[in-house]
Amino acid sequence: MTNWLDILAGINEEKGSTALRSQPLYVLIHNRIKEAIDDGRLPADTKLPTNRELANLLKVDRSTAARAYAELANEGCIESFVGRGTFVASSRPGRNDPFESTEPDNSISWPDKFSRASQTVYEMLRLEQANIGWQQEVISFAGGIPTDESYPHKDFERILEKLIAAGRSAEMYQYSPNEGLPALRKEVRKHLAKQGIDASDDKLLILGGSQQGLDVVANILLDPGDLVVVEDPTYLWATCNFKSRGARCTAVPLDDQGIRIDILEAILQRQRPKFIYVIPNFQNPTGITMSYERRRQLLLLANQYQVPILEDNFVGDLRYDGESLPSLRAMPGSENLVIHLGTFSKALCPALRLGWLVAPPETMPRLVIAKRSSNLTTNSISQVILAEFLKEGLYEQHLATIRNTYRARRDAMLRALHKELFILADQQGDRTRITWSRPHGGMFIWLKLPDGLSSRELLPYAQREGVAYAPGDVCFLSQEQSECLRLCFIQLDEANIAKGVKRLGKAIRSYLEDVSNKSLSNRSHLMGTGSHSFI
Ligand code: PMP
Repeated sequence: MTNWLDILAGINEEKGSTALRSQPLYVLIHNRIKEAIDDGRLPADTKLPTNRELANLLKVDRSTAARAYAELANEGCIESFVGRGTFVASSRPGRNDPFESTEPDNSISWPDKFSRASQTVYEMLRLEQANIGWQQEVISFAGGIPTDESYPHKDFERILEKLIAAGRSAEMYQYSPNEGLPALRKEVRKHLAKQGIDASDDKLLILGGSQQGLDVVANILLDPGDLVVVEDPTYLWATCNFKSRGARCTAVPLDDQGIRIDILEAILQRQRPKFIYVIPNFQNPTGITMSYERRRQLLLLANQYQVPILEDNFVGDLRYDGESLPSLRAMPGSENLVIHLGTFSKALCPALRLGWLVAPPETMPRLVIAKRSSNLTTNSISQVILAEFLKEGLYEQHLATIRNTYRARRDAMLRALHKELFILADQQGDRTRITWSRPHGGMFIWLKLPDGLSSRELLPYAQREGVAYAPGDVCFLSQEQSECLRLCFIQLDEANIAKGVKRLGKAIRSYLEDVSNKSLSNRSHLMGTGSHSFI
C-alpha cells in the first residue's frame, strides 16, 4: 500500500510562509509526486488521493492541490477518469524504458538550458491550459475576445480596395517608421485628445497591441529582482511578462472602488517598486472600475513616493452606462508619472494587432528602441487600413453599435445569473453566498462561489454540462484564492448566454450537492477547521 506520508514527507515543514519559500507550494507538491513516479515508488496505475484528500493531508487549500495535479496531468504523468479517480499514467512520454530504444540519446537536454525566469512563466502558462480539451458544442465564457459578427468586415474590405485602387499598396508593403505610421499617429492623437489625453509627437508610440506596451515598459524599467506592484487579482499575461524579466510582483487587493490605497501605502513606505501596474477601467478579471477618488489618491501617493504608474486601459472605450471617468493620464499631475496603454483589440478587432502608448517624453527614445529590438516596426498593412477607418469617422460609429450589443449581452448574463443562481445565492446564507459583479463596461463578470469551494474543482462538472469559464485562481498572486471564476459576456448572443448560464447553474448545483454529501471529515476542510488524513 502506498505510503503517502513518506512520499509527501517534509512538505508541511517546507510550507512555511510564502515569502520564505523559493517555489510556490503547488510546485513543491508537484515535484514530490513526480519524483516518486520517476523513481518507481509510485508505479503506473497507482490510485492517487482526490484533490480534497490531498489538500486535507497537507493542510493546504484545494486549489493548490488541484494545481499540482493539473501540472502532472499536463505533463502526462497522471490521468483522471470520471467516476474512478486519478491514477499514475500507464504509459507516458519520456518514461525510462530500457527496452524502448537502443539508439544513443544525443539530443540536447532543453530543461537544463531554459532560464529561471522562463521556468516561472511556463508554470503559470500550463495552468491556464485548464481551459482546453472541451467538447465541440461547449458554450464558452472563457477567453475574452469579440466574435466574428462584431467586426466591421465590409468597411475593412472597402477601405482595402480603395487603398489599392489609389496606388497606396507600396506604403502597405514597406516597413513603417518605428514610432508608427504618421497617418495613424494623427488619428490616435485625435481620439485621445477627446479623452483629455495629450498624445503629442514626443509622447506617443504606436504598438503591435498593448501587450507589446507591457513588454517595452518592462524592458526599459525592470532589472532582475526588481519589484512591481500589481492589483490582486490581475491580468495574467502582464505578471508573466514582468516575471519573465526576473522581476517580483507584489499584489495589492481590490475593493469595489479599485486598488486598496491603505495597503499600497504600507508597501510604498517599506519598499521602492519600479512601478505600479493598474487596470482602472472594467478590470481584467474582476470588471471593477477604479473610482475617481481612488484615482486621485493613487496619483497623489505615486507622486509622493515617486513611483511611476503603468495604466492599462484595455477596454476603456467600452462603457455601457454610468459616469465616464478620466484616465489617470488625463488627470492633473500625471504628465511625468503615468505611462498609458490602450488597444484596438477589444473595441474593434484583435487581429489588427494595434495599440498605443502615451508616456513622459524622457522615456520615449528608450521605449522606441525597446520596441525596435522587439519587432522592428508594426505591421504596415493594418496601420494603413486602421488610419483610414479612423479618418472616415467609422470608429465612433462602430463603438456606438457594439456598445449597444455588449450592453444587451451583459444584461442578458446578469438576468440569467439571477434566474439560475439566485436561489443558491439565497440558500447559502450570508457568509458563503454565491456573488457576482455588475460591471458598467468591458467584458467580464467575476463570480465568487461560497467560501472554501474551488472553481477548478467545478471544472469537470461544467465540462459535463458543456459550459466553459476561466478559473480565477491563475489571476491571483496569492495562490490560495480558489472560489472565483471569470465569465466573458461579449462573445455570445443573448440566447446562448442564457443557455450557457443555465448549464453553469446546473454544474454548480451538482458540485454543491456532491460537496454537501461528502463525509464529515471532508466537509470539515470546507469549513476551514481541522484536517483529516485519509491514510
Ligand atoms: N491588457 C489586458 C488587461 C488584456 O486583457 C489584454 C488582452 N487580453 C491586453 C492588455 C493585451 O491585448 P492586446 O495586445 O491585444 O492589445
